[in-house]
Amino acid sequence: MNYEVVIGLEVHAELATRSKMFCGCPAVFGGQPNTQVCPVCLGLPGVLPVPNRRAVEFAIRAALALNCAVASVTRFDRKNYFYPDLPKAYQISQYQHPLAKGGYVGIATPAGPKRVTIQRLHLEEDTGKLLHLPGGDSLVDLNRAGVPLMEIVSEPELSSPQEARDYLMQLKAVLEYTGVSDVRMEEGSLRCDVNVSLRPAGSAELGNLVEVKNLNSFRAVQRALEHEVERQRALLEANRRVVRETRHWDEASGTTFATRSKEEAHDYRYFPEPDLLPLEISPEWVEQIRSQLPELPGKRRRRLVDEDGLPEHDAAVLTASKRMADLYDACRAGYPDPKTVSNWLMGELARLLNATGRDLSQVPLTAEHLIGMWRLMDQGVLSGKLAKAVFEEMFRTGKDAATVVREQGASQISDEAQLAAVVERVVAANPKVVADFRGGKEQALGFLVGQVMRETRGRANPELANRLLRDQLRPG
Ligand code: ADP
Ligand code: ZN
Ligand code: MG
Repeated sequence: MNYEVVIGLEVHAELATRSKMFCGCPAVFGGQPNTQVCPVCLGLPGVLPVPNRRAVEFAIRAALALNCAVASVTRFDRKNYFYPDLPKAYQISQYQHPLAKGGYVGIATPAGPKRVTIQRLHLEEDTGKLLHLPGGDSLVDLNRAGVPLMEIVSEPELSSPQEARDYLMQLKAVLEYTGVSDVRMEEGSLRCDVNVSLRPAGSAELGNLVEVKNLNSFRAVQRALEHEVERQRALLEANRRVVRETRHWDEASGTTFATRSKEEAHDYRYFPEPDLLPLEISPEWVEQIRSQLPELPGKRRRRLVDEDGLPEHDAAVLTASKRMADLYDACRAGYPDPKTVSNWLMGELARLLNATGRDLSQVPLTAEHLIGMWRLMDQGVLSGKLAKAVFEEMFRTGKDAATVVREQGASQISDEAQLAAVVERVVAANPKVVADFRGGKEQALGFLVGQVMRETRGRANPELANRLLRDQLRPG
């Protein structure tokens, strides 16, 4: 039997506001536990929530960037449940009247571009954070309780773990470009729950879904989904049932394990939040926010393809992160060749970022330094090989190319007289190879060029070395 994979994502993004959703406490990450709290976010009796206007604005901005329709009236609801990280025993969320509905995210698939529908986008407040100790005790940090949170729910339209990952990357890029969230998965400001089911290919009915909660990296999303697809396929092929449940992902073993059964839906006893009035969102406000939207990743990707002539793949990689896309633009403002810029950013820069586990914001390299390096290459001062060494030093120290070249004595030898002397030495030291070349064996020249490069520790200009060797070896 052929099975079709069906995936839907629920993504939570903390909004990058200064204060929390319903009180004035700071919403910044990383403070001493339980220092960023007040009676409102501690859920003490008798307090009243006041909505954060900036959080609503950010959510509208995200909704517009994701092509959603923004509601003219939206309402908050109480979602009741008891858990130690939720001091009020309810979370203020949005149920029946979310802030926005019906947008989409565009992804590239092997079969062509695809639009993944966004079911809804709503506002809520984050919960506190539990820390489970090895001895069995748990600690709670309520700094995060009440931080503005946006939930973005997709329709079950994703057809593979790879598509799910691409959707999440695009979504993350949009949130980053619009500046509404830090989107740091490792700090939890972007979190993802995945829902996945299988059904016989061509069937119109959806299969029983399994939800895997709180995945905190793209890799985890993809691996958890791949594992879950295989687990469900094995069950179905053995004529067994997939139980509708919530499972957790274990990074170390690469498997999911069951926690609580989702067979009966939770009874959250949603009801309208009595302490908050419905929010009226004027069309003028929405249009004002729309008019301030920046260039979004999709548009930027098109610009790189249509105007700079970059391949689709390069454009997609470069625009996936706003910092990278901004660096590309800054480089292009001072250097004419898009392909050179793209090759270095996607090649050496990406490689060093990966190897050092750093983010572009943590690296002292600037567009001016890169432009300086390319100019030195164009002038023949730096060979491609030397440039890589110079680049590493710029990446590490934040020095500009000319300084690195001066300090390392790394410049290419393009001086004819200086190189001719080396060529003479190499010719004298390799009479047999010279004879081979003179006897018609073209490849022998490659060996001699290699010797010149070795003598100069890679600094000889290879074209010049080549020409000088040919001159010296010319018969007669
Ligand atoms: P909730 O988690 O709030 O109870 P649902 O479980 O109905 O809501 O849906 C949440 C997510 O699950 C959505 O992203 C939706 O696209 C996805 N989803 C719903 N049904 C399925 C299914 N059969 N297979 C895979 N994903 C699904
Ligand atoms: Zn507070
Ligand atoms: Mg769910």
